[in-house]
Amino acid sequence: MRTLFLNPPSYDDFDGGAGSRYQATREVWSFWYPTWLCYPAGMIPDSKVVDAPPEGLSQETVVKMATDFDLIVLHTSTPSFTLDCRTAKMMKEVNPKCVVGFAGGHVTAEPEAALRAGEAIDFVTRKEMDFPVKEVWEQRDWSDILGISYRKNGVIHHNPDRPMLGNEELDALPFVTPIYHRDLDYLKYNSPYCQYPYVSLYTGRGCPARCTFCLWPQVTTGHSYRVRSAENVIEEVREMPKLFPEMKEIFFDDDTFTADPPRARRIGELMKPLGLCWSTNSRANVDRDTLKTLKDGGLRLFVIGYESGSDTILKNIKKGVSTERARRFTRDCHDIGILIHGTFIVGLPGETMETIEESIRFAREMNPETLQVSLASPYPGTEFFRYVQDEGFLVNSVYNDEAGYQRCTVTYPNLSSEEIFDAVERFYRQYYFRPSYIFKSVKKMVKSRDERKRLLREAGEFFTTMKKRRDAAA
Ligand code: SF4
Repeated sequence: MRTLFLNPPSYDDFDGGAGSRYQATREVWSFWYPTWLCYPAGMIPDSKVVDAPPEGLSQETVVKMATDFDLIVLHTSTPSFTLDCRTAKMMKEVNPKCVVGFAGGHVTAEPEAALRAGEAIDFVTRKEMDFPVKEVWEQRDWSDILGISYRKNGVIHHNPDRPMLGNEELDALPFVTPIYHRDLDYLKYNSPYCQYPYVSLYTGRGCPARCTFCLWPQVTTGHSYRVRSAENVIEEVREMPKLFPEMKEIFFDDDTFTADPPRARRIGELMKPLGLCWSTNSRANVDRDTLKTLKDGGLRLFVIGYESGSDTILKNIKKGVSTERARRFTRDCHDIGILIHGTFIVGLPGETMETIEESIRFAREMNPETLQVSLASPYPGTEFFRYVQDEGFLVNSVYNDEAGYQRCTVTYPNLSSEEIFDAVERFYRQYYFRPSYIFKSVKKMVKSRDERKRLLREAGEFFTTMKKRRDAAA
């Protein structure tokens, strides 16, 4: 079966594909690699990965591709699901014989509803898609394939879950970067906090933390951090400069790369002789010695989910890291010279006007290099979703506006969805438009032409985005 792995087009510049934790059009140009699709693609000869959003491919263009394939696997998300169903239906109309499967967190959380809503969907994979898709491609009897739900003769069946892949199985998977090289254009991917061009990959899957809002560990990757060996990671990394000659930075996009500090240090030590610049995701609770080893091994930046400056909210969402611990960690990073991209969320359980102000003050105190403020999005399958649904705080199920920007879907007795929505822009402005931050940015622009170009472009994109989301809300 000639197989197409498709991250379908939906909204313009929608960063919501197989690699994106928060599915939305971003404030500035940003695309994650469709890494999840590239694993099974690496196991299926003659397959093809098409990532429509960064390529700017229209629905019409991808629909025409259907004639060339027997099996089409689409990665979907909660905000794009309805549009993705439409794309799948049109592909089936063009090639009625093709088998269509959907993958991703949304169909894992609601497989029955997904199969009922999408008449063109033949099967969905739940949790890890690697081997379920491969076994469909091998044309095994679907009733024997663990981890899929499917439709047969109009009846929907749910097979038992498939056990998560263990460490050794992760080591045995193909590398994703040769698939990027084969099917994607790495110059079309950007992360605002990574140096351009960047290339990302996973060194492990899952996160032991229990943050109630976080989609992947609760729905697809699980709470045990399963890891590739450091040697296996380095074997892949070593080849990357040849595959991507202009690459300036590698991003280890594990849920929490530092969840296993001895292993993180081992990778840091093995990275050192390679002389490559890299960044990764972490929680704000890493010890100073580990930080030093990672910095020594080429670590440039951490993405840190501070989420809130209120300890009450941090407890409500089971973050497991207090503001005090985050302060100490941040001081250590500043001392050692590790940059931070800090992420915050407004609208989490317990949020009030006062806690939003607390978060803004805390963000300014932490003073990360760059900042991201998201609206709390209760995706199906998360504890946060169940909470807002049970309490009657979920006001609508439309997660994004017509341009793909996040919409506020929750409201609380003391805080309306409008107030939460407005707080995002206020948060950004109060963070970025400080004399000290402006001065730092000007210094960067004076020093480097590339930085000047990037900052000016991002500033322009930021203002345009804020206007568009305000207009859409109005
Ligand atoms: S630490 Fe990060 S990846 Fe892990 S559950 Fe919390 S938000 Fe998700």
